[in-house]
Amino acid sequence: MGRLYRKCSVLGCEDKISSRHRFPDPKINFELFQKWIVSTGNPELLKSDVEHIYRTKKICHRHFSQKHILSNNLLLKSAFPTIFLGKDVFKTSHNKKELLELVTMVLSTMAENVEKILPTMFCCLC
Ligand SMILES: [Zn+2]
Repeated sequence: MGRLYRKCSVLGCEDKISSRHRFPDPKINFELFQKWIVSTGNPELLKSDVEHIYRTKKICHRHFSQKHILSNNLLLKSAFPTIFLGKDVFKTSHNKKELLELVTMVLSTMAENVEKILPTMFCCLC
């Protein structure tokens, strides 16, 4: 018997059985972290704190293509979600507009968060 997993962060995904992957560490690869956020198509994530997302949010295995998955089902370090993305965010022209808005929001929200993250990063260098 498999356990039931917590909700996948991808908008519209109801999967409860696939294994989960946590977000990449924003302190190590902030650009990749942003890519994951955008891929979810989920504006809710923008309201959350970066650290909170990293600690608690997950994305299920089915959003990753084979070329991003290693033989032991772990992800490549550069992997990001590309499949079954919520509400076909990347497909229709209507949603392209939504996606653009989402990306813009992500970037501005992230810019604010950078100020919170930077001191932590400097701390790591001590
Ligand atoms: Zn999912």
